[in-house]
Amino acid sequence: MLRCSFCGRRAVYHRRYAGVFLCDRCMIKSVERRFRRAISENKLVMPGERVAVAVSGGKDSVACLHLLHDYCRGRRCELVAITVDEGIKGYREQSLPVARENAEMLGVEHHVVSFKEVFGAKLDEMVKIAAKRVTGLNPCTYCGVMRRHLLNQAARELSADKLATGHNLDDETQAIMLNYVRADLSRLYRLGPIYMPREGFVPRIKPLREIPEKEVALYTLLRGIKVHLDVCPYASGIHTEIRDFLNSLETNHPNSKFMILRMFEEIRPHLQEAVPEVEMKSCESCGEPTSTRLCKTCELLQGIGLAKRRKNLISDQNS
Ligand SMILES: [Zn+2]
Ligand SMILES: [Zn+2]
Repeated sequence: MLRCSFCGRRAVYHRRYAGVFLCDRCMIKSVERRFRRAISENKLVMPGERVAVAVSGGKDSVACLHLLHDYCRGRRCELVAITVDEGIKGYREQSLPVARENAEMLGVEHHVVSFKEVFGAKLDEMVKIAAKRVTGLNPCTYCGVMRRHLLNQAARELSADKLATGHNLDDETQAIMLNYVRADLSRLYRLGPIYMPREGFVPRIKPLREIPEKEVALYTLLRGIKVHLDVCPYASGIHTEIRDFLNSLETNHPNSKFMILRMFEEIRPHLQEAVPEVEMKSCESCGEPTSTRLCKTCELLQGIGLAKRRKNLISDQNS
């Protein structure tokens, strides 16, 4: 029997990059400690703040909701959960109830914002329309741009001071590598534990950023938290290639993911001067903040003959 390197109880996890074994209790404690440290070191959440959490129902966002809920107790912080229903058959329709259940269980106010209601089409329908009109369509582009758009707008309408997402170490290193491969300096600069954008945008925080995906999954399992484990049916292409590459790198050279993160952190402060300042305006179609005439969401919608139908996401929903 393998024993925990810290307390001698039965080990459930081999943390290869640190050369230690952990039992269930030490594993839970370690994840929670790392979560709290990420928040305090980077000042992600301040006492008295209202934090919106993007909860899809997947393990990362649900773990983030539970961890933040524990963290906010006694700190006068308030949580509100937002789920974006993109309309992906067999995927989101199963994860949405999981998100709702977890929010209810923790007594966290929960809002659902759907592509269908706001844009007039589900992602599945957009993909079908786009396949006929736009060449080289990537569903992840539509989904990513529009989901961020709705999360930011909903968080702002809910008067949130921060918008928390469940990005883990694997997500973050994949994003770093992807922006290297695409030579996208401004997107690269936006990565980090906290991104303070301009007027009209809610600062985004990633408190799970230093926790490997495997450990987030094990954490939810050990704490008996209900999560949805399926992978999005649209996941493919360069994202998955980079993920597989990083996983094989980590297998053969443990600690590689943390090293990529650390190196990026060394470089990041020097990127600011290389990223051009842009002037912010209001989107001519929907009024949301953007640096161009139309925001990216409206531009993509226009390309497939659609337009945003609702100006307010939350107030319209409740009235
Ligand atoms: Zn232990
Ligand atoms: Zn717009």
